[in-house]
Amino acid sequence: MYNPKSSKAEEFICHEEVLASLEYASQNKNNVEVIDKILEKARLKKGLSHREAAVLLDCDIKEKNDEIFALAEQIKKDYYGNRIVLFAPLYLSNYCVNGCVYCPYHAKNKHIPRRKLSQDEIKKEVEALQDMGHKRLAIEAGEDPVNNPIEYILESIKTIYSVKHKNGSIRRVNVNIAATTVENYKKLHEAGIGTYILFQETYHKESYKKLHPTGPKHNYAYHTEAMDRAMQGGIDDVGLGVLFGLESYRYEFSALLMHAEHLEAVFGVGPHTISVPRIKKADDIDPDEFDNGIDDDTFAKIAACIRIAVPYTGMIISTRESEECRKRLLHLGISQISGGSKTSVGGYFNPMPEDENSAQFDVSDRRPLDEVIKWLMTLGYIPSFCTACYRNGRTGERFMDICKSQQIHNYCQPNAIMTLKEYLEDYASVETKKVGEALIAQEVEKLQNANIQTAVKEDLVKIHNGERDFTF
Ligand code: SAM
Repeated sequence: MYNPKSSKAEEFICHEEVLASLEYASQNKNNVEVIDKILEKARLKKGLSHREAAVLLDCDIKEKNDEIFALAEQIKKDYYGNRIVLFAPLYLSNYCVNGCVYCPYHAKNKHIPRRKLSQDEIKKEVEALQDMGHKRLAIEAGEDPVNNPIEYILESIKTIYSVKHKNGSIRRVNVNIAATTVENYKKLHEAGIGTYILFQETYHKESYKKLHPTGPKHNYAYHTEAMDRAMQGGIDDVGLGVLFGLESYRYEFSALLMHAEHLEAVFGVGPHTISVPRIKKADDIDPDEFDNGIDDDTFAKIAACIRIAVPYTGMIISTRESEECRKRLLHLGISQISGGSKTSVGGYFNPMPEDENSAQFDVSDRRPLDEVIKWLMTLGYIPSFCTACYRNGRTGERFMDICKSQQIHNYCQPNAIMTLKEYLEDYASVETKKVGEALIAQEVEKLQNANIQTAVKEDLVKIHNGERDFTF
């Protein structure tokens, strides 16, 4: 019944296959021979099957776990260098007709203030985000065919791309909206979106139905098959994720990797990103009411095993997590983080007193973007505002090919340096600028290709003199 090439959710996320993988993992979690064999394959840095990765996730042997963490760090360095891409969420509307029991936007929540941004308000939000230095957004909206139809989302994307405030511009809009039709995905593609992101929440069908008791999201197959429709609609960068805490993390981990295998088998390209949100406190939501919460150690192990299993897939961690937790996971494979985020509708330009309550979830890392940037640099990372790949047509299979041949550094490293320079010139505090200039000087010298190095040096001077938006 398990068939990664099937178009049916229950066949590519086959429940029996998940259970069999968990059983195999449990039987082998202390089996040094099996674990060593898997680690040997993992060291080729070409990924693992969901079953192999499940064994590593379950592995109970301290020395082997040390090897797993070390390998995740190595893969992270090899494929992503010391770059961390920055983005911010932009909440357009919290009107929602679904009944997701973990989300404060669920339709039965009558006391949460409902808001939907007008195009003028979106413009103001985007200006506020540009003034922080952001170039990449992820737009978020509840599912509501009357209040948030696809036309509203498309108009909003157009507005966002049109705002040119001082030296600012939003160069990539990723979209996190409910599962929709191939027709609508085509429209999103034509609107020039970057990644289409949709969290599965849970892959466990029975739990999924209970956690989504009402509304269109109740339909497990429609939700699970959404990425197939998105790809049929021409979107070739899709972002997966589960909401950890809803179901057993072992189940989610194997199923998530099966989903990645399915996309690779059918479309020749796996997910562009995987997000690892954990359920958080919010209005009307108490995370303690969910039985499957995971501690920080388990969370770190999940991130390390995802990094090893799908080396070419970016991994995202949001401000749901604390500074300390984010710091720990950055080493293990995270390639993108949000910064300075507001999870309420209208939270950037004109936050209202009740916004704390209308937020989708409590933000743990509340530091302003400038502080996050300085922090990343003092940890040795290059904060990157790069959006070049998708704007230069390096998406889907093309992106993966470049990534697999490890050529991505020739593009990403110079682009990271140059977009950081733009940030320092236009938005950074004096202290952050000082740290950043020193880092850039050091990083430019490390560029191995002499031609690229010369070009970057020239472009840095041009950026200092006021020109913007250079890409490799
Ligand atoms: N409404 C869209 C959908 O149905 O997919 C997506 C947008 S929603 C604003 C973004 C994500 O926030 C959800 O997919 C869910 O995983 C996450 N989320 C919801 N409630 C949460 C909570 N209490 N804590 C952490 N994350 C939450």
